[in-house]
Amino acid sequence: MDGDLLNGLNGAQCDAVTSEAAVLQVLAPPGSGKTKTLTARVAYLIAHQQLKPWNIIVCTFTVKAASEMKERITGFVGAEVAKQLKLGTFHSIALRYLKQYGQHIGLDKDFGIADTSDSKAIVKRIIKQHDLTIDAGQARGRISTQKAKGIDSEHFLSSAKKIEQQEFATVYRDYEATLKASNLLDYDDLLLRCGFLLRTHPQCVSNVEALLIDEFQDTNNIQYDLMGLFAQQRNVITIVGDPDQSIYGFRSAEIKNLSRMKQQWPDTLTINLEENYRSSGAILHAAQHIIEQDESRPPKRLQATHSLGMRPILRKLPSATGEAKWLVSEVQRVQAMTGNLLQPNDFAILLRSAALSRAIESALNKAEVPYRMLAGTRFYDRAEVKLIIDYLRVINNPDNSEAVERIINVPARRVGEGTVKSLHEEARSQGVSLWSLVLNTVQGRCKPTTRVTEATQKGLASFVNVILSGQTKMADSQTEQVALVDLMTLVLRKLSFEAYLKKKYAEEYEARWANVEELIAQATDASDPERLRAMLQEDALPVIDGLEQRTASSVEDTLSLFLANAALTSSSEEKAEREGEKAQQLTISTIHAAKGLEWPVVFIPACYDGCIPHSRADDNEEERRLLYVGMTRAQALLYLSCPIKNTQREETTMSTFLVQPGVAAFFEEHGPSVTQPGVAGLATTLRRECPHQSDIDKAKQAMERDEDNYWPLNGEEPLEEVARWDHDRGTGTLPAFGTTRPAAVFT
Ligand code: ATP
Ligand code: MG
Repeated sequence: MDGDLLNGLNGAQCDAVTSEAAVLQVLAPPGSGKTKTLTARVAYLIAHQQLKPWNIIVCTFTVKAASEMKERITGFVGAEVAKQLKLGTFHSIALRYLKQYGQHIGLDKDFGIADTSDSKAIVKRIIKQHDLTIDAGQARGRISTQKAKGIDSEHFLSSAKKIEQQEFATVYRDYEATLKASNLLDYDDLLLRCGFLLRTHPQCVSNVEALLIDEFQDTNNIQYDLMGLFAQQRNVITIVGDPDQSIYGFRSAEIKNLSRMKQQWPDTLTINLEENYRSSGAILHAAQHIIEQDESRPPKRLQATHSLGMRPILRKLPSATGEAKWLVSEVQRVQAMTGNLLQPNDFAILLRSAALSRAIESALNKAEVPYRMLAGTRFYDRAEVKLIIDYLRVINNPDNSEAVERIINVPARRVGEGTVKSLHEEARSQGVSLWSLVLNTVQGRCKPTTRVTEATQKGLASFVNVILSGQTKMADSQTEQVALVDLMTLVLRKLSFEAYLKKKYAEEYEARWANVEELIAQATDASDPERLRAMLQEDALPVIDGLEQRTASSVEDTLSLFLANAALTSSSEEKAEREGEKAQQLTISTIHAAKGLEWPVVFIPACYDGCIPHSRADDNEEERRLLYVGMTRAQALLYLSCPIKNTQREETTMSTFLVQPGVAAFFEEHGPSVTQPGVAGLATTLRRECPHQSDIDKAKQAMERDEDNYWPLNGEEPLEEVARWDHDRGTGTLPAFGTTRPAAVFT
């Protein structure tokens, strides 16, 4: 096992994997194997220190990163063992603890999660209700910041002097009251309540033997506190991170957490990794040049292990549509050059903001290049999916008045918007939920002051009927075997959902129904006892003396877990995972969501001032780091581009980061530097296929012809160094990628 585990790791990586230090920091630049080291250390702790996988917590920042990490660990220890780890995002791990032990801090077991769009809707409604002038998005962000600082709405109400502050205080107060009345927690609450749970009931984590965190540079203070609380029993912590990649300052991430950790645990051992295994030398050179513009940054050593390869490209295009077209044609050209060895999933388009994707999506559609959005409209946010989820949420927790308001007249039941608002208002003033007012009205137990016509009364009755049948089905599950999927099909049938979609969406109907089918598939999965156990990680949560924990036994529990998971996952990811990530799709992602990931070919379009650095960003250094993170996702080919006119047809100026002195030398603005031999070399090495002697010869000839365009050959590097054939071993290395000789050292 030892051999396998440490095989393919360099000295510093091995030291980190096998370190005896209780608290360990691995700080290193992109592509230096931090995540690889972290996953190997998890395997090492299990194999050599006999830690039980269910006693190890592994935290990452995105769902995608969590699934990649799980895959890597599976490679070391097998799926059975990997499954037992407590591995996920901070939010999903917090959720797991709260679902399991939340009753000890007064949480109702069916609490739901207010996702980003729910939270925003609540804030908007409050602003409208009180006729306030404050901006909804800003108010939402501020609530988050205040919660992170532990300042509650009461504090604000008493100290707010200016009108703007008073408005914010009102929104904050009502927002919290709405969440409470609706039995909802927002994302911040998940972390904060989990912190409270672990502080007051430390026995919940008495079994935790080790905690490992990836991308530590992006932790905020709440996450830092959680780290200490998760690990409070044994204080065995490994973190990996890179201060140069800190890109979540706008969400209160604290780069200071690195030094704070050293103060809190003075014996912290720090290990640095210095070799980059991801990118070609040329890409590293260019990225390095960008990050070094920040003069306050301490110089660092970074060594490329790949040859220089193809020079990154910086291209100006006339318009955003022109840029999108060029980009797609480049994808096709490079793919064709490799004889289709490179597939669409080897390409990624990384954007500063998701809103830029429209032109690109339409160009990809036209060219029939399959793609997926890594952080686009989340599956659970799509109208038809959200609607079904809302029905399930209300069945599970009818006090969620926001959800009731959203679905009470969908499909249409002749319950007008005005009537709903007025009923909601009436319910609020009576201190009851909208559901209980509606139920009592339908069952003749009360007569609301809001005028309810006969038609409306019928509509309300039909709504109540759907919800009550769902609840009866759930109650049945105590006595007979009822699965979540049965509940979902009951709701779909009661709503005549397929007919509703057909009528509402006409030609778009099929795509919409496909989403519903996907949701049914997920419910089927979740209904499987094996899968349910995995969701709950029952094995992973041992019985703790004096601390009762919940086990999922009925459809009610499954539903509540399913809904909570839905709020934290985006299903394109889930789906890809279920299909074994076979889909050959190009990735479109924001740079933020792409951190930690890598692709052979990366495009970063829209590199102009106002976009990157973004006009609304407070911190230009953070924007620069963002560009650095984007560039360092590329393994072999990197394209940056800038439309002369943006989508609003305004003239742009090239990003200030790219017009700094010396930068141009790393890019090539005009002729093609993407050469056939370069790309062919890239494809063969990535596919681990052995190039033939004839390929090598062809590459050399082409490079000689193409000397000006092939960067390493301007007298800097002899040809043999970049393309060579090893006669003894019968293998060769083509120029773009894969020579192991260090090609460039940065200090
Ligand atoms: P980031 O900061 O972007 O998250 P990272 O430091 O986590 O990067 P990894 O993703 O772990 O880097 O590794 C980058 C690539 O280098 C991966 O493809 C990984 O398999 C490879 N790699 C890491 N270490 C080695 C090694 N010792 N030998 C060969 N390849 C390696
Ligand atoms: Mg990583």
